[in-house]
Order: sequence, then structure tokens, then C-alpha cells
Amino acid sequence: MRIDVVSIFPSYFDGLALSLLGKARESGILDLHVHDLRDWTSDRHRTVDDTPYGGGAGMVMKPEPWGLALDELAASSSEPTIIFPSPAGEVFRQATARDLAQREHLIIGCGRYEGIDERVFEYAATLGEVRLVSLGDYVLNGGEVAAMAMIEAVGRLIPGVVGNPESLVEESHEDGLLEYPSYTKPSAWRDRAVPEILLSGNHGAIAAWRRDQQVERTRVRRPDLLGD
Ligand code: SAM
Repeated sequence: MRIDVVSIFPSYFDGLALSLLGKARESGILDLHVHDLRDWTSDRHRTVDDTPYGGGAGMVMKPEPWGLALDELAASSSEPTIIFPSPAGEVFRQATARDLAQREHLIIGCGRYEGIDERVFEYAATLGEVRLVSLGDYVLNGGEVAAMAMIEAVGRLIPGVVGNPESLVEESHEDGLLEYPSYTKPSAWRDRAVPEILLSGNHGAIAAWRRDQQVERTRVRRPDLLGD
């Protein structure tokens, strides 16, 4: 998969050289490119923002650099999916990550200030599928943290990124439930024992216990996921 990220703070993404995604990039499974939006400006100050029409607080990202960036990046594939992190978008979920992990080419445009001139989203739709995606119901200063979260959630679903694919299957949100509790050695720690069933060697009973834990945990912590 190819991912192009456009931001006025490209160094936010330096952390993606680490850990599993760093290895995926080294091995070529993930072809990630981070671009500075200011490289598509033409004035001396490399200006990317201006005052809002109609008045109001804050600045708005100008459409011209975005148009040039999208033209260039979208031209590198036939079917780009263009994602704009936005608190006014659809909420990013595991199902969104699964969907996006099937795509060949993602372009992620990180907004700043009061956001991006609305015409950019309309124009982008002439180049590929456009998705406005929110990390959650709160407002961040920019799209970079949201883009990082999306890249990590999508990236780990690309075959070969996570060493043992089975570890992806049992995770929270994969089947609409939260994950069961996990324990490791020692079996007793600070007067707290690991649940006896996990030491029993009875795989059927362990699977049933874990399932019960998933349902109970979801009922208590995230009843909205159970939909009743
Ligand atoms: N004025 C915008 C609004 O009220 O919808 C918020 C702009 S916010 C300060 C600047 C940028 O941060 C947005 O363009 C977007 O890229 C990003 N952003 C903020 N909150 C976000 C969220 N919850 N999910 C994804 N991106 C977010």
C-alpha cells in the first residue's frame, strides 16, 4: 500500500520510522511518503492560510497549495482514496481501518487553523474517493495526530505488518466486543492471582471464560457496542 501524507508539520510523522510500521516501511510492505504542504506554495513566505470570507476568528487553509499537492499525488495512481481528518467527519472505527486497509493508495491531507477551504474537498472528489474522518468527538489542533492514529490502525492490518496474524483476530472491536483480560507470569503478584481457569490447560473452558469476559466487559464499559 502507498500512503501520501500532506502536512505543514511533516516531522510529526518521524515516529512512523519506529516499531512495526518502521519495519514495514523498510521491507517495502508500506510505501509511506510525508510531504510538506508549503512545497506547493509559490510566494516568498510559503503562505498556506488566509483570513476567512464572511469574517470570524482564525485562519483558513488556502485552496491553491492543496490543489497542486492533490494533483501531483493523485496522479501517481488510478484510484486514490483521499482522506481529510476532520472533527466534522465520519467517526474512525475498526471497520473503517479494515476498509481502508484494502485500498492501494491513500492520500491524507492534514488540516490546521480553522480547517481547509471547503472547495478543496469538492475538487478532491474529482480525483478520487474523498473521506472526511474524525478521530472522535473532540477538537485537535491539527490533523496530524489523527492521521498518525489512522496510519497505525490501517497499517497493522496490511498482511505481513504484524508478525502473527492471529493476534489481530482476537482484538477489541474485531467482533464488536472488547478484548478479554490478559495475564502473564508470575501467576501471583502483590497478592493478586491469575484466574485459576487460565492455569487449567482446558482450552475449551478457557475460550468460554474469555468469551464471557468479553461480553461482561463490553456490557460494563461500552454498552453502546452491544446495541441494546
Ligand atoms: N474549525 C474546525 C471545526 O470546528 O470543525 C476545527 C479545526 S481544527 C482546530 C484543525 C484541524 O485539526 C482540522 O482541519 C482537522 O484536520 C484536525 N482535527 C481536529 N479535530 C479532529 C478530530 N477529532 N478528528 C480528526 N481531525 C481533527
